[in-house]
Amino acid sequence: MQKFLGAALTFFAIALGGTDDSAAAPKVVATILPIHGLVADVMVGIGQPTLLLPPGVSEHMAALKPSDAKVLSGAEVVVWIGEGIETLLAKPIKALAKKTAIVTLSRDAGITLLNNRTGGLWEDHDEVPKSGKHAHAHHDTNLHIWLDPENAAKVVRHVAAILARIDTANASRYADNAEAAVQRLNALDTELRAALAPIKGVPFVVFHDAFPYLELRYGLNAIGSIVVSPEQKPGSKRVLEIRKKFEVSGAVCVFTEPQYNPNLVRSLVAGTNVRIGVLDPIGSEISAGPGAYEILMRKLAATARTCLTSAPP
Ligand SMILES: [Zn+2]
Repeated sequence: MQKFLGAALTFFAIALGGTDDSAAAPKVVATILPIHGLVADVMVGIGQPTLLLPPGVSEHMAALKPSDAKVLSGAEVVVWIGEGIETLLAKPIKALAKKTAIVTLSRDAGITLLNNRTGGLWEDHDEVPKSGKHAHAHHDTNLHIWLDPENAAKVVRHVAAILARIDTANASRYADNAEAAVQRLNALDTELRAALAPIKGVPFVVFHDAFPYLELRYGLNAIGSIVVSPEQKPGSKRVLEIRKKFEVSGAVCVFTEPQYNPNLVRSLVAGTNVRIGVLDPIGSEISAGPGAYEILMRKLAATARTCLTSAPP
């Protein structure tokens, strides 16, 4: 019945002159909110992409529910970063039918990739998960590529070019949208540079190594991470090591992430002057859609600045 109704509505839309552009838009699926937001910027006025992973699900831990698998298999275009980060999606994405266009941003968008950091507080091989489930343990490349507006502009341009090829009727609109988005991203870059200038070089610790692209772009100074992999708790030897590093490095703030248990971080900073902030690389509390990327980046900058500039308690 629903199929019939859908067919009937399509018929009427055509009968009425086919003015509904979104009916013609390709079915696009993007994996995480920041990437989805950039794709949505490219598709403004044409259609809306579907966000595959619910907000707040770690970019590394995402496994597909049967309903997500259905969304994925119905997509004409799938935009993801790559298996070095959305590890659990690699299999279902690779298994998609040949007719699905798979856009692997880490490989295809012309982005210069950074390596995961090792040594010092960045890696402890004792902490490498045995389960083999986690991305960071198995990939040298850090794929949190979206946390740099210049990379975001590359994503926008690349996605627009692909969509224009698939949906030729809207090609010029994708190009116009991309150009407008890139201009906003350039303005965002200028704004973030000014906002983050006062905290250049101020040492801090992150929950996991999610921000190297942001750090490089704006001269921020992360000195280590608490865990190698987001789902792995550090052992007691590691905890002592981290507390010692806090003391000698002069770390001002440790940034946790919303999806991880805050008690661990509270116990780490107890008795020190180190403050706790929350840096959320995937925008768990941001509404998905056009403009979401800019909201995410402004929020990150504001949180980083607050924690790294306010006076000790
Ligand atoms: Zn991550």
